[in-house]
Amino acid sequence: MRPLHAAQSAVLDAMTTLPAQPATLREARGLVLAEDVVAPHGVPPFANSAMDGYAVRSQDIVGVPVTLRVIEDVPAGSVPTRAIAAGSAIKIMTGAPLPDGADAVVKVEDTDAGSPTVEIRAVVAAGTAVRPAGGDIASGSCVFTAGTRLTAPHLGVLASIGVAFPKVRRRPTVAIMSTGDELVTPETGKLAVGKIRDTNRPTLQAALEDLGAIVVDYGIVPDDAETLNKTLGHAARNGDVVVTSGGVSMGEYDLIKQELAALGTVEFWQVAMQPAKPFAFGSLGGTPLFGLPGNPVSVFVAFEQFLRPALLHMMGATRLFRSRGVAIAGEDLRTDPAKTVFIRATVTRDGDLLVAARSGGQQSNVLTALALADAFAVVPAGEGTVAKGNRVELELFRSPEGRTREEALGG
Ligand code: AMP
Ligand code: MG
Repeated sequence: MRPLHAAQSAVLDAMTTLPAQPATLREARGLVLAEDVVAPHGVPPFANSAMDGYAVRSQDIVGVPVTLRVIEDVPAGSVPTRAIAAGSAIKIMTGAPLPDGADAVVKVEDTDAGSPTVEIRAVVAAGTAVRPAGGDIASGSCVFTAGTRLTAPHLGVLASIGVAFPKVRRRPTVAIMSTGDELVTPETGKLAVGKIRDTNRPTLQAALEDLGAIVVDYGIVPDDAETLNKTLGHAARNGDVVVTSGGVSMGEYDLIKQELAALGTVEFWQVAMQPAKPFAFGSLGGTPLFGLPGNPVSVFVAFEQFLRPALLHMMGATRLFRSRGVAIAGEDLRTDPAKTVFIRATVTRDGDLLVAARSGGQQSNVLTALALADAFAVVPAGEGTVAKGNRVELELFRSPEGRTREEALGG
């Protein structure tokens, strides 16, 4: 068996990065910057008020109350035409440019809100309620480095500096198919004996699209050499990556193995992991091929451990693997010490601790336990069973289901 990390490294070594092109901010969501972004100007672009109130010279307010002359009124979007001299103030709204001569803003609550004179009732230090020019982003500074995957706040930052067409690597196109004579489409009403509905394509399609890939669906391919050969050929020409499920286990009727071998260079691995031990990886005429096992839980685990990091690498991302946390085992978690085991786990909170327990049956066909899981409890090869109360690593493959209204706000 191949150690998991060796298998993951071999997969990443075989991947190239996709070309870069400018995209609109809307298109760029979830894609990865192909170059560093340097701020063409500072943010904020000019010193401005953080409060509705009065721009003042802090040195004018030594004892309070003190009365100042209001010489102008500046709403956001307009520009002060006058400078503040000793004994004067300018009424100012949040976001409006700070007038020359002012070094602080007194919030309206600390005044009598008056005009043409205002009574100031609180002492302010220089800089109070002032957002200095470049205080968030300095002009010319590197805001995000190449390899950053763009989320909602990243897109907002790019907008604020006028980078409306960031250079990102394009979306990978992923060709998927399910193999097996037993499979029928999910729309099938009554199942004939011996048939099951194809669950792997909907799972893969969703996981791939969440990642930002474009999915080309080649459907269900029967265990038939000619059809398989033709479909794999089309898929390899049209996809940046081809993903199959089924037909790669030991002792499997080895049609798929034959066809994969005929079309390209594909190796059949036994990875020291559970689930998803059998895994085919290689190239169909230069297109990377991921041959996932057939069992639905194995498909998702193989997606998480191999395909997701590989696609993120193609997309140019620096961070390829899921973040991890730590929990306490809420029960004995039995594992095979020869393999890295991904236990489908629910994670609950006990005071300051996270507690992980199995979310259901751990057989690789029990997809409900995966759907109910908040995380994988990961037990690396060599460790074996984690006893109740001991620590276990969590791999957070999705944010746990949110809190209910009662949990968040109380009864
Ligand atoms: P295989 O690797 O082809 O031997 O498949 C292993 C197990 O996964 C068998 O029980 C298959 O019926 C099942 N399986 C294969 N492909 C799918 C699929 N697309 N959806 C649901 N189950 C599948
Ligand atoms: Mg099969």
